[in-house]
Amino acid sequence: MKMEPQEVNEALGRGFYGVWHVLDTYELASLAGPGPEGTHRVLFPNGTIAKVYAPILHPELPSLFAKLHPGDEQAVINFARVYGHLTPGAVVHGDPLPWIWAHAATVRLCVQITHHLQADTVEGLDQYLRSLRGQWLDDREYWPCTQVAKQGDITTAGWPQPRYHTMQKREHAIRHIARLIRRDVINWNIAGIHFVVQEIDGKDRSVFSCQSLIDMVYWHVANAINGQSVRRCANQRCGALFIQTRQGQQYCPARWRQNGRQKDSPCASGSRVQKHRSKPAHQ
Ligand SMILES: [Zn+2]
Repeated sequence: MKMEPQEVNEALGRGFYGVWHVLDTYELASLAGPGPEGTHRVLFPNGTIAKVYAPILHPELPSLFAKLHPGDEQAVINFARVYGHLTPGAVVHGDPLPWIWAHAATVRLCVQITHHLQADTVEGLDQYLRSLRGQWLDDREYWPCTQVAKQGDITTAGWPQPRYHTMQKREHAIRHIARLIRRDVINWNIAGIHFVVQEIDGKDRSVFSCQSLIDMVYWHVANAINGQSVRRCANQRCGALFIQTRQGQQYCPARWRQNGRQKDSPCASGSRVQKHRSKPAHQ
């Protein structure tokens, strides 16, 4: 087992005791379930522990997790090979792919709202809230309402519509509901993080601890509200929203590499290739 004691100590320095394990291999299996053809697809970790790391030190987690889209099974495996499975129960039951994708969509919801809240005008936010439509409480179509992941479940959630009597109050009302949605969704999903007294190296220390990796994805989403910017990736083929982990960052973050050498993200290097190709060969 490869320990990363430096990471563990650095995490403790931030008051966090929570390491996560990445196993040797990740595979997909079809189990009997509610999916098409009576099955659902599940991600299973296999083998022994290949890597131990501290998710608190990886603010790139939500931006990379948010790139998991329904149907792209290979992307889930690629994510798990670097950061591991999402829940401790995955070793026994697996992490269901529809559940993983629902959480990825829920993280995108939070990131999208943060992006709109940063904008100067409220028009984009208003349109976005109106685009969240579904059935909630009765058969009629309602907004804002959307499917979200809430810890282990996937559920439909709705919020009050922005109400205002004068146009001066409109912006405040729209922002208020958007922030309420973001607060609710994040708070549901960081509830597994708790403050405990833990014995560490023969001494008792009070530290934050988490139960699963998915908690830590939302921890970083929550943390980003304290002043971090959400940007749109400058790679035109990507265009995804990401949380800036350093000032001036223009592209989605790179995946973590264990040897410590941080390579460019595929979006940054891909963008350089595109620019190079689009230059005329000769004047
Ligand atoms: Zn990108």
